Amino acid sequence: MFSFISRQILETTPFSAYGPRFHWLSSADIFLQELAFNTMRHFTKYEIQLLTISRLKYITSAAAHISYWASMFSSTDFTSEQMKDLVYFSRLPIATRKNLMNIPLEQRSDPARAKYFKTPIIVTSGSTGHPLHFYSSPIRQVRIRGYYRHIISELGRSFMLFETTTPTVFNLGMWNHRGLYPWQGFSFGKDMENALYRKVLFDKWGNNPANFLYTSAAYLKRLFFWSKQDGFIPSFRAIIFTAQGLEHGERDELTRYFCCPLISFYGTHETTLMGVECLFQIGRFHLVPEMNHTEIVDELGKVLSIGKWGRVISTPFDNEISPFIRYDVADRGKIEENPNCPCGRKTDFLVIEGRTTDYILLSHERQIVVREITVVLDKLLLGKAYQFQLDQRDRNKLKIRIVPTSQFTTQDQTHIISKVTELLGGALPVSLEMVPSIPVESNGKIRLFLK
Ligand SMILES: [Zn+2]
Repeated sequence: MFSFISRQILETTPFSAYGPRFHWLSSADIFLQELAFNTMRHFTKYEIQLLTISRLKYITSAAAHISYWASMFSSTDFTSEQMKDLVYFSRLPIATRKNLMNIPLEQRSDPARAKYFKTPIIVTSGSTGHPLHFYSSPIRQVRIRGYYRHIISELGRSFMLFETTTPTVFNLGMWNHRGLYPWQGFSFGKDMENALYRKVLFDKWGNNPANFLYTSAAYLKRLFFWSKQDGFIPSFRAIIFTAQGLEHGERDELTRYFCCPLISFYGTHETTLMGVECLFQIGRFHLVPEMNHTEIVDELGKVLSIGKWGRVISTPFDNEISPFIRYDVADRGKIEENPNCPCGRKTDFLVIEGRTTDYILLSHERQIVVREITVVLDKLLLGKAYQFQLDQRDRNKLKIRIVPTSQFTTQDQTHIISKVTELLGGALPVSLEMVPSIPVESNGKIRLFLK
């Protein structure tokens, strides 16, 4: 019975997504989604698969009204009505960030719906340096908020936080995720570099610690650095980190220092949350079929069997305004079967190859998280560059390599140099290099930052 209701909730468009007039219903929607996700934890693999198929049908039928996706569908004779299984779905071509960048936003989105809902345009270059923009739909926002409440409450129960139904979480530096959860507090990552700010924050954490810290690997390492300098060790039940991974040794050191477990979330800004690390097995992420369909494919886009390494492909279910269908997230990974995980989650495992955090070294003491620079470049270079890459192989300077479009002007050049120099606090000379392409490395990836 509960399983039936939950399926209905997850297969039906949330009320608040019917239009701006229903916006006030969004808290009720988020609550219903959270309930449905709580029940979905007990779904069998077969029930999960049925739900995946029905949600892929929904997103592909929405995409069929959008010119770019319609042409992809007709080139492979795909119609969402005919989709009975996942094999049929896998006939669709893989969409890479580079393909999508070359398609104007209006042709791969539903601009009328975006206008109706006044949805924001988001820009991200992820880990590859290709700036891409997209709309975020109200359905996507409701579902991901419901999912965050579900997964964080579940972690709360795992860490014996029975006294609170919604654990308190402090968000350090994850600006993109500011709306996903009722955070106990939020702080910009770069605030950590300011001694006065740290004093206020550390006093607050001393008096009223949050149950969990939610941050990125890079900001966590900065927190570790400053916490040692200032002689204050904050206390959390667990630390959730996202965006990138940590080296094995680094992770051990941080776990010992903060005296609590570290749990990694895996996902991308343009798709959704794709993996939640198992509490019992470091480096193995439980798939998130609540939010997306994840596949591993070979170079030609053919689905690989369990245990084989390949390209990680995601189809998020909920962005009907700018859909991403079989989208290559530009990571390598494999899916492993989950026979009966002691943590209780039934979904299979996703293992991701090499995601590490990056810094630009300013001086012996000072570092800046690469993301602080790339989010600014994403905006400045939107429509003006196909790709960019940062290079600090020579420690005394920062070179920005750009593959420009015809829109790129000499004024942009001066503007970028002055903006980035300012962000680095004048600590390093910045130069630009215009190049026709950025070479791919032997693992098939292009690195955003070289050092
Ligand atoms: Zn597990």
